[in-house]
Amino acid sequence: MADRPPNSLRELNRRRVLAALRDRHATNRGELCRVTGLARTTVTSLVAELLGDGIVVEGPAEPGTGRAGRPAAALTLAPQPQLVVGIDFGHSHCTVGIADSAARVVAECSTPMDVDASADRALAHAAATVHRLVEGLGARRTLVAGAALGLPAPVDLRTGAVGSGNILPGWVDRRPAAELAELLGLPVAVDNDANLGALAEATYGAARGMSDVVYVKVSTGIGAGLVLGGEVFRGSTGLAGEIGHVPVDPDGAVCRCGNRGCLETVVSVTHVLRLLQPAHREPLDVARVVELVEAGDVGAARVLRDAGATIGRVLADLCNGLNPEALVLGGELSQVGEALLGGVRESIGRSAQPGIVRALRVLAGTLGPRAQLLGAVALAQRHASPVGW
Ligand SMILES: [Zn+2]
Repeated sequence: MADRPPNSLRELNRRRVLAALRDRHATNRGELCRVTGLARTTVTSLVAELLGDGIVVEGPAEPGTGRAGRPAAALTLAPQPQLVVGIDFGHSHCTVGIADSAARVVAECSTPMDVDASADRALAHAAATVHRLVEGLGARRTLVAGAALGLPAPVDLRTGAVGSGNILPGWVDRRPAAELAELLGLPVAVDNDANLGALAEATYGAARGMSDVVYVKVSTGIGAGLVLGGEVFRGSTGLAGEIGHVPVDPDGAVCRCGNRGCLETVVSVTHVLRLLQPAHREPLDVARVVELVEAGDVGAARVLRDAGATIGRVLADLCNGLNPEALVLGGELSQVGEALLGGVRESIGRSAQPGIVRALRVLAGTLGPRAQLLGAVALAQRHASPVGW
């Protein structure tokens, strides 16, 4: 991380040494001097630093390589246990995870916070947490190769700026990836929560190994993330998959986007709880609704099936257009399982083309609320620079 100023002469020389070793143009100190044109003392000192950082390893001497008949020790780049940072910002939490090269989260911290209110506070908190977790691991900062963060809001691909003030008011026009990169001294990528969910489920979860996947996050908002040909498809400006604002009821309630009857006003967690609440004395939350469904509550099952059917109608159009292999339901409301999935399946079965339906699997996500964090880890790994560069 911010150990070395990125453009200092020493840093540039370090990169030249690393490049020479990586490309096998040099395998010992003498060759490094010749290939890079750097002074012997500079090479000796840089190699000592790289050996200390564990980025370069010194092997047995190679016969006939040294000066005055003495064999020189062979230098190679070490295979690195490269770490990356994943950060998941929800509306009311910040979760930071440090993952190894096998995407195992080796340190993690989740904090409840009002993320919407202040981007400054949220970003500073995330950066401090990253530093604390990395220090706790005893890992050298140079082993952390990159980071990615997820936000519950659209991010403009062209500028990296957060759009739509109705969704994340404290973040409008901020460029969170660039700001966090400054705080961490690391390359940082950013994406919205649905895209990260899609990437995670297609990389580690329910759709692992599938290359054309639609992921739908059903929580307080609704959004889809698309993985097409194995890569996240973001569209021309980053807004692909914003299905939450497809109008489904022209006379419906006014949505936070200003339109009426958007999908989000009909099937979000808030709406489902509002529909069910009058039939129950205790205040309902999603966990209680899951219990009700499991206990065979007819009203809860009915409301969720209808919600699934409404989502399915919108998704049928998307599936007709994209012919995906899997449709993965994630987000808070997907915890109710078949009650929701059954409605989605039924509705897609009715509204999508038969060939599309036969090729499609409608699945519950297997990563649950960790999908966004793991998606950030997967994104960070794709964007990370090689260790120590
Ligand atoms: Zn809307």
